Amino acid sequence: MRMAAALPARRPARPQGAPEGISGTGPTALPGLYLHIPFCLRKCAYCGFYSQTDLAQIPAFLTALRREIAIYAEGAGPFDSLYIGGGTPSILGAAELERLLGDLRGAFPITSDAEITIETNPGDVTRELLAALRRAGVNRLTIGCQSFSDEILQFLGRRHTAEQAVEAVSLARETGFDNIGIDLIYGIPTPSGSAFADWLAALQKAIVLRPEHLSCYQLTIEPQTPLADRIAGEGLCLPGEEAQARYFFRTSEILTEAGYGHYEISNFAREDRFRSRHNGKYWDHTPYLGLGPAAHTFDGRLRRWNHRSVAHYLSDLAAGKRPVAESELLTDAERCLEAFFLGLRTSRGIHLETFRKRYGLDLRKEKGTMLTKLAQEGLVEVQNGFLQPTRAGMAVADSLALI
Ligand code: SF4
Repeated sequence: MRMAAALPARRPARPQGAPEGISGTGPTALPGLYLHIPFCLRKCAYCGFYSQTDLAQIPAFLTALRREIAIYAEGAGPFDSLYIGGGTPSILGAAELERLLGDLRGAFPITSDAEITIETNPGDVTRELLAALRRAGVNRLTIGCQSFSDEILQFLGRRHTAEQAVEAVSLARETGFDNIGIDLIYGIPTPSGSAFADWLAALQKAIVLRPEHLSCYQLTIEPQTPLADRIAGEGLCLPGEEAQARYFFRTSEILTEAGYGHYEISNFAREDRFRSRHNGKYWDHTPYLGLGPAAHTFDGRLRRWNHRSVAHYLSDLAAGKRPVAESELLTDAERCLEAFFLGLRTSRGIHLETFRKRYGLDLRKEKGTMLTKLAQEGLVEVQNGFLQPTRAGMAVADSLALI
């Protein structure tokens, strides 16, 4: 059984520093703009993302970022999504973020209806910060709650409490945000051994808060992190395949019953308009420009990424160079495979005719036997010209693309 071979890991298929439109068939929208803020007050025990805790470098980083903005400003855009992620963007504080958003608007054409998202840590969320973000045009807030249990938050090394997580969502609502996303992590093997019950409780608390969007990621253990050491040292058990499947299906069932559409492996939205437009661009090959250390940029064929090092990023920009670490040019076969793989992560799936035109592969003809087999197994179905994963298919989406 292929079940759970590819259950969602934290932030799946999301180039760091890189986003939802969801056609699964190719570029359908304007490009997106991503900004990576590579600083955190302290590292979470499980963190494998690029961020550093030497906050003294923030002023130099902001100077370099403004240089990078100037390099790419000419001819870029217009953008209909802007996503500020990290790291922890909210540690920059109200005034700096307001200035930065003003600089971005001054440098790049950003459409009047753009989705403008910022990631926040509940420990940073204040009325002042939220009001500044609203003034600066931020219309979508994601709040990294991760859990509503202090025991679990401590286990994860998060720097906020459960109460602060709830308070952050309430404050955001009071300040006028009407598009709030909550990030949660499941499959956390705390010493109490009640991981599944803890997760169901967290989901219920999240539902009560009525966020417009929920991202539910399975905990992945990155090597050489304090959490990896602790889990090995204390002999804690991570969920196996069957348990992972149980998390996936119960989460999907519970949130669907609560009125959320399960539109991507790890993502749920109360209405279609609350699906993440920006992340959709990552999933349907729409181009995006990424700025900041470790940020990725994609033009439809060429993908490049910046240095995963603040020091290297600063020195390149001080020398007037683009801070690009590496790039890759996707072959036609790679684009086709990526589009198939990413499309099947989304509930909308792949529009077969558009896919044929764009990637030159008629899936019904060339992969007909395989698709029939998957349909018989209840993993995919064809509806109105779209090849769509069922819930069971979404649970194994990553492996479907390998068949
Ligand atoms: S807040 Fe995010 S980026 Fe920062 S240390 Fe924690 S998991 Fe890593």
